[in-house]
Amino acid sequence: MVFKHLRDGWLNYLKSLFNHVDEDVKAEAERRGKICVNCRQIHLSYVGKNLPIRGFCKLCKCAFPAMLFAPKKECPLKKWRIKKDEDDDFYKD
Ligand code: SF4
Repeated sequence: MVFKHLRDGWLNYLKSLFNHVDEDVKAEAERRGKICVNCRQIHLSYVGKNLPIRGFCKLCKCAFPAMLFAPKKECPLKKWRIKKDEDDDFYKD
């Protein structure tokens, strides 16, 4: 777990709750989330019927869904990876 991923993930996740997150970050988080919720390594807590509210990846120990919003984080199983396109500002350091 890298501090930068932790910070960026939680910051972007909190922004998303108020619809202030970058659209690219939001779209990528949604893509990653669909993969994670179907992964055997995710541990989720539910409220109501099939509504995940929080959890964590058993491999990297990162918090779900905040980890989905960390642009530079990669899945430890490489099920989702960051893009390497240098022309894309979203993925630059
Ligand atoms: S980050 Fe990767 S290993 Fe962890 S739950 Fe998501 S898909 Fe599975």
